[in-house]
Amino acid sequence: MTITYDDLLTASSDTHGQDIVDPATGERVGRIRFRTVDELDAVIDDARRAQPAWAATTDDERRTLLLHAADAIDAAAEPLAEILSREQGKPLNGPNARFEVGACSAWLRATAATELPVETVYSDEKTHAELHYKPLGVVGAIGPWNWPMMITTWQIAPALRMGNTVVVKPSEYTPLSVSALINVVNGVLPSNVVTSVAGEGALGARLSSHPDIAKLMFTGSTTTGQNIIKTSADTVKRLTLELGGNDAGIVLPDVDPAAIATDLFWGAFINTGQTCAALKRLYVHTDIYEAVCTALVEVARTMPMGRGLEEHNILGPLQNRAQYDKVSHLVDAARESGATIVLGGDPDPTAAGNFYPTTLVADIDNDNPLVTDEQFGPALPIIRYENLDDAIAMANGLSFGLGASVWSSDHEHARNVASRLEAGTVWINSHGGVHPMIPFGGIKKSGYGLEFGAEGLKAVSAPQVITWATTPDGNHTTETTMVRRQL
Ligand code: NAD
Repeated sequence: MTITYDDLLTASSDTHGQDIVDPATGERVGRIRFRTVDELDAVIDDARRAQPAWAATTDDERRTLLLHAADAIDAAAEPLAEILSREQGKPLNGPNARFEVGACSAWLRATAATELPVETVYSDEKTHAELHYKPLGVVGAIGPWNWPMMITTWQIAPALRMGNTVVVKPSEYTPLSVSALINVVNGVLPSNVVTSVAGEGALGARLSSHPDIAKLMFTGSTTTGQNIIKTSADTVKRLTLELGGNDAGIVLPDVDPAAIATDLFWGAFINTGQTCAALKRLYVHTDIYEAVCTALVEVARTMPMGRGLEEHNILGPLQNRAQYDKVSHLVDAARESGATIVLGGDPDPTAAGNFYPTTLVADIDNDNPLVTDEQFGPALPIIRYENLDDAIAMANGLSFGLGASVWSSDHEHARNVASRLEAGTVWINSHGGVHPMIPFGGIKKSGYGLEFGAEGLKAVSAPQVITWATTPDGNHTTETTMVRRQL
């Protein structure tokens, strides 16, 4: 049976709930009821009860169910993309809503395929030790509004694979998208194995302090991450914190500006700049500074922005008014400080929706707030440098450490520069690409913990060492403790 947009929206919403509006038009997309803390507690209790039976399934059974969930997402891909486009604002086309839904099924399949064998961590003539990975229990998953379906999938897929049940708290800005995704996944999973609970930040705070939540996967701002560290302390909860970023890119003088301009553009402006690991500060050598600015302007002018349901658009609105106001304020302040707005910076105040034009800002100082704050929108500051050591110092000068990039035609030189950058990922001649088998995570105030691949599975598991004494020929012995043997 084909799932339609109306079916999915009806199943995921609640006519008595809060209005969720389309950021492109201000029109209502749907309604969803925000849950109370007591209702969240009841969901956590259901997840706790469901977990032993889920953990008792075999790894092969869970892999198979993840593959079926991926198939179910593919079968509902178009209505899922439409809900996402209307609620989040991102266009259907380009690296946006359809791309995001496709990433959800791709990540589920890759997670199902990832191997995590028992590791022999030590073995000699006296001792053998193995490292096993076991379920933790109930995992909490709190997400942001920029890539709501994809980030939810990043959180739930490894947790489910490892035998945990999951309670998801989506952003209050994008609960319909996540609810729709979870409804589709729940078409193939047993009851209460994964549940989405819509609501405000208070629900996230409850998840982070609840004694039955063994681990919290959080993706969002650094400030909220800091709060979660505090509220999770009493229960000594395990945390994966994917927090804010202010990624630097360094362009060396040996590149062809026209050849890299499109990749630079998408590094900075994917999802209209609302991406954690987007390029948010661009450092360009003075020899090619004007040429890079010109090439970026030429590319940016070819990228249509507008309502996401119109197929020709590949950039959308900012998801919410607070984000629009933040970007406007930062660009206005940069202009007043004497920076040059080489493109954009002139939103139409009469337009419906949160559209802020693609904006490039040159001749800007490194301590300008457009450079030092995470703008999280379509406004890229381009900073001139003469000396590479200065550029590296400026790139490393902030407290963020999510991603960074180096752009050069000399691969060895680029690798050398990459190794000097303080970031969880450094891309060479691209920026922001992620892959389900390549670990991803931040350092400094961008958080801690890794997602994806085997590292991502380990992060949602309880490590357990099993060890025994051995004889010189490798057999186990009846010796009772290693300590006695050492004595
Ligand atoms: P946010 O921190 O405001 O909200 C994120 C989530 O936390 C929401 O679901 C919110 O309801 C919840 N929340 C609010 N208060 C809480 C509390 N006290 N305890 C627990 N949960 C609480 O972030 P946002 O504005 O939705 O997202 C944008 C930010 O997310 C940016 O800084 C961006 O860089 C970051 N981000 C990081 C990554 C990454 O992988 N590192 C990915 C995407 C977004």
